[in-house]
Amino acid sequence: MEDCLFCKIVAGKIPSQTVYQDDQVFAFRDINPQAPVHVLIIPKTHITAVSDITKEHIPLLGHMVVIANQIAQSEGIFEKGYRLAINCGKEGGQAVAHLHIHLLGGRQMSGKLG
Ligand code: AMP
Ligand code: ZN
Repeated sequence: MEDCLFCKIVAGKIPSQTVYQDDQVFAFRDINPQAPVHVLIIPKTHITAVSDITKEHIPLLGHMVVIANQIAQSEGIFEKGYRLAINCGKEGGQAVAHLHIHLLGGRQMSGKLG
């Protein structure tokens, strides 16, 4: 999508600190990290939000979680624990309208969400 920040990152038009990529998925460091490890895992194709996910996306979402786990391993937080978060829409706290999983770790997370 032309006017989407994360599509521009996938296309290399905006620089990012790439952590991983394959044919379906792109992962890069969050520009404003909320934890020592803060990586965003996104589909290369534009999907606006998790609310757009349908049955056809099940393999893609499963793949995104597998990759998030793999990155948790390579970032050294797999054993200690980490958080995967998806914000959806305005009240869900989603600022960028391209589906992304936040991978957060490297510190104790509070039990509070939101
Ligand atoms: P959300 O609030 O769930 O939509 O998360 C959007 C995330 O994207 C925030 O954590 C931002 O810090 C992050 N972000 C925004 N612009 C960039 C960028 N150019 N490179 C990396 N991360 C970004
Ligand atoms: Zn996009």
